[in-house]
Amino acid sequence: MSSLTEAISKPIHLSYIKDCLRDVRLGALANAGVSYLIHEYNVWKNNSNGVIKPTTLYMELTTKCPRECKDCYISVEDRLDPEIISIENVDKIMQNCETQGIRVYTLLGGEPMMKETLPIIKYLLHKHPLKTFVACTNGDYIANQKDKLDDILLKNNFIAALSVDGFQETNDELRGRNSFKNVMESASYLKSIRSFYGSIITLRQENYMEATSIAFRDLLVSKGFKFLSFAFPSRLTQETIDEAIHNIESWKDEHIMVYTGLFGHLGNHDNHTMAKVVSMDKRGRILKKRRERIEIGDTDTSLDAVSNNPIWRERYEHQM
Ligand code: SF4
Repeated sequence: MSSLTEAISKPIHLSYIKDCLRDVRLGALANAGVSYLIHEYNVWKNNSNGVIKPTTLYMELTTKCPRECKDCYISVEDRLDPEIISIENVDKIMQNCETQGIRVYTLLGGEPMMKETLPIIKYLLHKHPLKTFVACTNGDYIANQKDKLDDILLKNNFIAALSVDGFQETNDELRGRNSFKNVMESASYLKSIRSFYGSIITLRQENYMEATSIAFRDLLVSKGFKFLSFAFPSRLTQETIDEAIHNIESWKDEHIMVYTGLFGHLGNHDNHTMAKVVSMDKRGRILKKRRERIEIGDTDTSLDAVSNNPIWRERYEHQM
C-alpha cells in the first residue's frame, strides 16, 4: 500500500505540470487539479481501509449517436432512440453523489455532445461549478460548432475526452469517415482556447499495436492532449492485454498522464488506483457496469446501498 503522497504524485511529473501551466487556462487547471486530488484521495481511502465506495459517476445522457463504430456496445436500435436523460434524474443522482463526496462525473452516450444534450450539459456545468464533468465524445459536434459551443467549452469545470483509436486510416476504418479529422479539428480548437482535454482510446486486436506506439502518443502530445485513457474491452486476449500494457509502460513519458481501465494510473500498477465507478443510464437506472447493462438500482437507491451490493462490489474486490 503506497502512501497518499506517493499515490497522488506518482502519475504526475514536473514537466507535465509545467506543460499544463503553459497550455491550460488557470481556472480549468485548478478545477481539474483539485478534482484529481480529491478523487485520488477517495481511491486511496478505499484501498487503505478496505471499504469499497464509489469514487465517480458515469452518467449516460442519451444512447443516440449517428456514428456506427465497429464493436460499439450500444445497439443500433438504441443509437436511433432520441430519448435524453431527465433533469429530475440528473438532480436526484447528483444529490446522491454529493453524500459520497463525488467530485468527478463522466458524461456518456451514445454521443453525449449534440444539440439535444446541450441544455443538460449547460445545466450541470452551471449548477455544479466545483465539480468536474468529463464528456467522452467522438468530437463531431465540437469540430462542427467550435466557438458556438464556447459557453460550454470555456467553462472551467468541463473537460472533453475525445475518442481516437489510431492514426487516420485506422481510426476512420474503426470509427467511420472523417472521424480522425473531426477529433484533430476539435483538439486544435480546444488547444486554441487553452482547455484541459484528453483522449479515450479503445484497444482492439486491429489497433492495439498502433494505439500503444510511441509515434501515436507523440502525435497526441503534440496536439495538446493532456491525458490518455485506455479502455480494454473484455474480448481482448490476455496476450494482447499484456503486450499493450508492456508497450505503454515502456513509454516512460513525462508529458502526458496515462490511465487504464484495468488498474488505474500507469506507474501505480500494484496499488490499483482504478476509479470505483457507478454507472447510471439515461432512464436513471443504476447499472452493474456500463457495458454489462444489468440493473442494480435507480436514482432512489443510496450509493451506500450500491457499495454494499455484491454484484457491484465483485469488480473491485479482487483489488483490495
Ligand atoms: S461514437 Fe460512441 S456511441 Fe457512437 S457509434 Fe461510436 S462508439 Fe458507439
